[in-house]
Amino acid sequence: MENTRYAVGIDLGGTFVKFALVSENGDILFDDKLAIGGKISREDILETVSKAIRKVIEKAAEIKVSVTGIGFGSPGIVDGGIVHGGADNLDRWENIDLSGMYSAEFGLPVLVDNDANVMGLGEAVYGAAKGCTDVIFLTVGTGIGGAIIMNGQLYGGYKNRGTEMGHVTIDHKGIDCNCGGRGCLEAYASTNALISQYAQRSGKSPDEINGHYIVEKFLDNEPAAVECMQEHTDYLGHAIAGFMNTFAPQKVIIGGGISEAGQFYIDMIKKSAFSYVMPDCSRFTDIVGATLGNSAGCLGAASLIFKNVI
Ligand SMILES: [Zn+2]
Repeated sequence: MENTRYAVGIDLGGTFVKFALVSENGDILFDDKLAIGGKISREDILETVSKAIRKVIEKAAEIKVSVTGIGFGSPGIVDGGIVHGGADNLDRWENIDLSGMYSAEFGLPVLVDNDANVMGLGEAVYGAAKGCTDVIFLTVGTGIGGAIIMNGQLYGGYKNRGTEMGHVTIDHKGIDCNCGGRGCLEAYASTNALISQYAQRSGKSPDEINGHYIVEKFLDNEPAAVECMQEHTDYLGHAIAGFMNTFAPQKVIIGGGISEAGQFYIDMIKKSAFSYVMPDCSRFTDIVGATLGNSAGCLGAASLIFKNVI
C-alpha cells in the first residue's frame, strides 16, 4: 500500500478538539481529543489545535507515514480557509485565517470547512452513503445542522454561506428560532425542542429529561412520549420530503445522538418523509442512520485533503 495517502483530520467542537491520522481508505491509525474548557480564550483554542496537529504529525513520523495535508472542521461560516464568524460557542471565533496560520506553522496544505459539512462529507465518503455522489446529511442535536454533497463534493452555496438545513420554515406563523427567524425546523425538531415538548406534555421539568429518557419512555409506550416522538419525526419527515423534492439525493443520512436511538427512529422519519415526498423525486432515495458516530468529523476533514489536494 505504498501509494496510500494520509492526512490529519481535525474536528473542533464547543468542548473538545478531536484529531486523527486517517488513511485515504478511511482507516484511523491514531486518534485522540483535547478539552476546550468552558471559558477558554481564542488564543488558547488556537494553541490547543496546534498541539493536536503536532501530536498527529509526530505519530505519523513514528509509524513512518508521510502526511499529505491537514483537513479541518470548524464551527461557523468558513470560506477560503478563513472562519468568518457565526460560531457563538467559541471565544471571538471570527476572521481567523486557520488555513494560512496552520499551513505556515506545519508546512502542509490546510483545508477548512464547517463542522457539520465535514461530518456530512465523512458519512458520504466513508460511512452511511459510501459510494454515493448525491447526499443530504442532517444532524439532530441541541440544534439541527446539515450538509449537501453534490456530485461527490460539498455544496455550500455562494461563499459557502448556505446549507443551514435546520432553518427551513415548517410553520410560517410558528415559534421564534435562535436564528432570528420563525417557525424553523430546528425550533421544532431539535433534541432541545423535543425535550421542551415532552416537558409540556408530561408536566416534568426539562432539567430532569434528556433525549435518552424520552426514547426509553417511548419504547415503554408512554402516551406523552409516543405523541412527542411521532410529532418530532413528522417534523423531520416534512423537512426531508422538501429536501428530497429539491435535491433528489441517493441517501438522506440522519446523524446526531438521537439517531442512535435505534432503527425504529429512522423508520419513523422515513415513513413520514415518504408520505409527503413526490414519488418521482424520491424514486432512488433511501433514508438511513449515520454510521461513523464521533469519527465522522475527523474522517470528513481528512477527506477534504484526499479530494482536493493532488
Ligand atoms: Zn432558524
